[in-house]
Amino acid sequence: MTRKRNNSLEKLWKRHKGKCHYCKRRLTKELGRSLTATKDHIYAAGNDFVHRLFRPKIKGSKSLVLACQRCNSWRGNMPYHDFKSLVEGKLSRGERLPGGE
Ligand SMILES: [Zn+2]
Repeated sequence: MTRKRNNSLEKLWKRHKGKCHYCKRRLTKELGRSLTATKDHIYAAGNDFVHRLFRPKIKGSKSLVLACQRCNSWRGNMPYHDFKSLVEGKLSRGERLPGGE
């Protein structure tokens, strides 16, 4: 179980080159940090319409992205595209992200 989880995190790490999908910060594999690498589900449960619409195309690990702990908890149940444009908007305006150092 643990091993499987680590393997898929490892795959995501490689695909995203160790950076958060949303804020592009360099992540750490150390646990318990705000920049700890986590897996984030693109289509969170609860967003039924989007889920049904996109699910056939995003089977398996493609429905996951690498995200820092901070973005992951900040996003909560926000739809993927809303959250991504929120983060990108803040970054492009040079605004700090919540919980930023
Ligand atoms: Zn992030």
